Amino acid sequence: MTIPFIDLKTQYQTIKSQIQERINRVLEHGQYIMGPEVIELEERLAEYVGVKYCISASSGTDTLLIAMMALDIRPGDEVITTPFTFIATGEMISLLGAIPVFVDIDSRTYNIDPMKIEAAVTAKTKAIMPVSLYGQCADMDAINNIANKYGLAVIEDAAQSFGATYKGRKSCGLSTVGSTSFFPSKPLGAYGDAGALFTNDENLARIMRQIRLHGQDRHYHHPRVGINGRMDTIQAAILLAKLDVFPEEVVARQRIASRYNNLLSNKTTSPYIEPHNQSVYAQYTLLVNNRGDIQAKLKDVGIPTAVHYPIPLNLQPVFNYLKQQEGSFPIAENIAEKVMSLPMSPYLSDYDIERITVAVKAAL
Ligand SMILES: *Cc1c(COP(=O)(O)O)cnc(C)c1O
Repeated sequence: MTIPFIDLKTQYQTIKSQIQERINRVLEHGQYIMGPEVIELEERLAEYVGVKYCISASSGTDTLLIAMMALDIRPGDEVITTPFTFIATGEMISLLGAIPVFVDIDSRTYNIDPMKIEAAVTAKTKAIMPVSLYGQCADMDAINNIANKYGLAVIEDAAQSFGATYKGRKSCGLSTVGSTSFFPSKPLGAYGDAGALFTNDENLARIMRQIRLHGQDRHYHHPRVGINGRMDTIQAAILLAKLDVFPEEVVARQRIASRYNNLLSNKTTSPYIEPHNQSVYAQYTLLVNNRGDIQAKLKDVGIPTAVHYPIPLNLQPVFNYLKQQEGSFPIAENIAEKVMSLPMSPYLSDYDIERITVAVKAAL
């Protein structure tokens, strides 16, 4: 039998009645846009992360856009980020006419290398946007120190790391703004697109709230340009039901990752988790040679794999205009050729983990 890459069905079966009850309440009250569940979810999420303000939104892509619009990032401004991420990170910088300035990754964690950031700062730099890849936070203290020195904002693209901790503090609450995604396959996933922003800055929170809703400060009064960036009430209702079990799911993810580690570590390399970090393992990822062959062998025995991400952003055609040829970011480019992610979900059984690891060792 094929193992699902991300098992959303078992989770649904486990909390079906809570999810249905939450959805039914929305259908009964009928406030599909900005209903009471949206407000309730924002309060619960802010409390969970340990920040003052949470602004729910339509996706983890829109949250990046809203955060940068609120920070007044404009055409020609530079935003320092990692080339080893999902396209949205660099894409939203470009959408605003700003320039993504890539900085190579750390060879052990695959997150942006703080040692290389300072050399990329120019008079045009406005912000640093680290990504908490695979569920592990980047070195936020080191990044915040550089940002403070040059007066820059730090936007954590925490789309993969909601629930992770860095030095005991939660991802999303570690910098000027935290931006996360509730895409169905993320650690906390809705049943459609959704995302959220987090900050302790009251003024920034107010501006982000306005931008999310067409730049309006009161009904039909618009002091700034915004977007339609709201989270649907139904998605908020689903997330409220899922948030109740989320802390247990994080523990389960960590237990599964450590089983994978125990069964595979003498055969393979996976990203080093810093001792001060707790990853939520959005992905469990290995480095392999002959990736295509190994993926094909695993597929033959019913084990799906995925590659996050095969092409670093500097080599994506959309960023050709930045004129960064192959070899500009050697670590990201090398790692991108070797990463392969295994099935990961809090409901993965010991039996399946065993089956997967046996097959991986045979395929290597
Ligand atoms: C998923 C993801 C996004 C985008 O989130 P969506 O909710 O799909 O728009 C942005 N950045 C990273 C690193 C992601 O993994």
